[in-house]
Amino acid sequence: MELIFSILLLGLISGSLANTFIYRIPLSLYPNKTTSSNFKLLGSRSRCTSCEEIIPIYHNIPVVSYLYLKGKCRFCECSISLMYPIVEISTACILLLIYLKVGITIFFFFFAIFFIFLLVSSAIDIRHGILPNSINYILIIMGVLGSYFFDLINIYDSLIGGISGYLIIFFIEKTYAFIYNKEGIGRGDAKLLSAIGFWFGWLNLPTILLMSSSLGLLVVFIQKFMSRNSDKNILEFKIPFGPFLSLSTLFVFLNSNF
Ligand SMILES: [Zn+2]
Repeated sequence: MELIFSILLLGLISGSLANTFIYRIPLSLYPNKTTSSNFKLLGSRSRCTSCEEIIPIYHNIPVVSYLYLKGKCRFCECSISLMYPIVEISTACILLLIYLKVGITIFFFFFAIFFIFLLVSSAIDIRHGILPNSINYILIIMGVLGSYFFDLINIYDSLIGGISGYLIIFFIEKTYAFIYNKEGIGRGDAKLLSAIGFWFGWLNLPTILLMSSSLGLLVVFIQKFMSRNSDKNILEFKIPFGPFLSLSTLFVFLNSNF
């Protein structure tokens, strides 16, 4: 029981760190959009995103502070995005699921880092429509090293998975661009599926792709149904694909025999 409590607590704290990444990584990609001149990814104090007032530590406690402050900055009364507590709670749930799956082993830490990064990438994809290269490359390197040194999966499955993951989306993208003469899926999705391939091997890629595309299509249909100008073509809906890839990967992980 205490262990579960500690894992949830670790999850909330990691979720808080994940929020920092979600907010700051895009700022580092577009430096001219940065509002604070002394921007750092880590090591600087959290500020209100609206009035830039430094947030005191006791107002920066995961979930609790959000509830206590009723979702508003105490300096400027601006509303704090609901994303913060959602990310914190999701991270806690993800860590608990990983623990229930693999227990406290070296793999717990591997998969915790992996899925927290997927969450960060997904949130950035939802907010900005990009999957940061920095995260994709970290996951790719970790996937290769994890398979080689820690037997995460068979190294050959990993290498084939990583390469085919990239190529599958690369070819879908090229075909789409050839037929419709415009961009469909982004290259960030190819790198993310490549990373997933390095971690889970090529055998899991068909399930992950099928599941994420079905989920994506479902969301597009719901959006089309909800939107007023329903004569809009299905192809004109733009949705971030990263969250669906990530969710499907989590599902495959929980149902695999790690
Ligand atoms: Zn404020």
